[in-house]
Amino acid sequence: MKNYWHSVVLEKDYCNGCTHCLDRCPTQAIRIINGKAQIIQDRCIDCGECLRVCPYHAKGALVSTLEILKTFKYTVALPAISFYGQFPEEYDMNRVYNALLELGFDEVYDTAHAAELLSVYENAVLDKENLNKPLISTYCPVITRLIQIKYPTLIDNIIKLEAPMEIAARHVRRRLIKEGHKDEEIGIIYITPCPAKVTSIKDPIGIDKSNIDEAVSTEEIYYKIMKIIDKVEPKHQLQRATGKGIGWARVGGQSYAMELEDYIAVDGIDEVIKVLESMELGKLVSLDFFEGYACVNGCVGGPLNVENTFIGKNRVRKLTKKYGMDQPIVIDIELTPENLEWNTPILPMPIFKLDTDFKKALEKMAKIEEYTQMLPGINCGACGAPNCRVLAEDIVNGYAKIEDCMLLNKR
Ligand code: SF4
Ligand code: SF4
Repeated sequence: MKNYWHSVVLEKDYCNGCTHCLDRCPTQAIRIINGKAQIIQDRCIDCGECLRVCPYHAKGALVSTLEILKTFKYTVALPAISFYGQFPEEYDMNRVYNALLELGFDEVYDTAHAAELLSVYENAVLDKENLNKPLISTYCPVITRLIQIKYPTLIDNIIKLEAPMEIAARHVRRRLIKEGHKDEEIGIIYITPCPAKVTSIKDPIGIDKSNIDEAVSTEEIYYKIMKIIDKVEPKHQLQRATGKGIGWARVGGQSYAMELEDYIAVDGIDEVIKVLESMELGKLVSLDFFEGYACVNGCVGGPLNVENTFIGKNRVRKLTKKYGMDQPIVIDIELTPENLEWNTPILPMPIFKLDTDFKKALEKMAKIEEYTQMLPGINCGACGAPNCRVLAEDIVNGYAKIEDCMLLNKR
């Protein structure tokens, strides 16, 4: 099975084994061993939940800093669409984008514009016949990873389209090369709201290689912009998206841009998991589209953003109105499968499967039940597993022993 690169990392020296992350991880990827958290790499989907809840800042995201600009001859900023929700309302987004030039970027491309172009294409895809409905959005890479490892039967429902950041990056790179820039001298830098997007740049799903070179966090850029913004002259028109593209920053924005009727848009990883479970049972086939986000309110809730997710959501709502849902969209990227669709298959990574041999899997299942009955069932986490059931699974899989249960040991 393929080993994924991960943006979410653990700083062991800061960890004091408090178990906050243990309880929060949606894929039970964390164990506490010898008083320190450890991440089981195969299970981690880079959702960043552990990063949010760690009181000791022992979890971090691998991102670049603005210093990275020095390593390229020509640099392009691709701000995440949720960037729209970060700045106080008195700062017009065009001024914010012009501030990025002051920080050293040579060019800024409005990723929200790529999103609205993608909405046009997505609509055409949804009109095709014989699709596995509902189609599942790939915008939040956490959800795609989750499906790969936990709900592989839903892989055929995934709409195999690139994210707006990739569409934008490919378009810009091609243009710059045509204009005479050398490929290796171009640095396309994504300003990211979350570690998951960094992972999808470094180790993409559906394409062989990302056209984005590096990612810096929204947080880092935000504070640098706020220091200079009052002096920035908005000399260039860099803000290009209409309300349709900007709305992608919040839950439901994608379906709204497509003017869909039969869709559900769900935010927060726990709620998404409930929906995927229903979908696996075939309960949602009457829907056309499912938009799921690991973060509350969608990407405005990303863990590397600055603004409170609800304030960000409200700002995006207002900006969607300001820039208009009925404005014409300038189609300046050819809307073809070559430009917008994934070109490599998504493979299942069923790491929760007990065994490839059905008989052995049943035997293991029976043993897990047996150990679960033996354990106290109070889910204290003192053994280092998130709950008694997971400890039972770990014992059967050979990663733990029954003696790891402190309470049983005391009896
Ligand atoms: S990033 Fe998410 S999946 Fe990975 S260890 Fe942290 S909480 Fe678990
Ligand atoms: S909802 Fe958006 S910000 Fe949050 S993990 Fe998914 S892509 Fe990243």
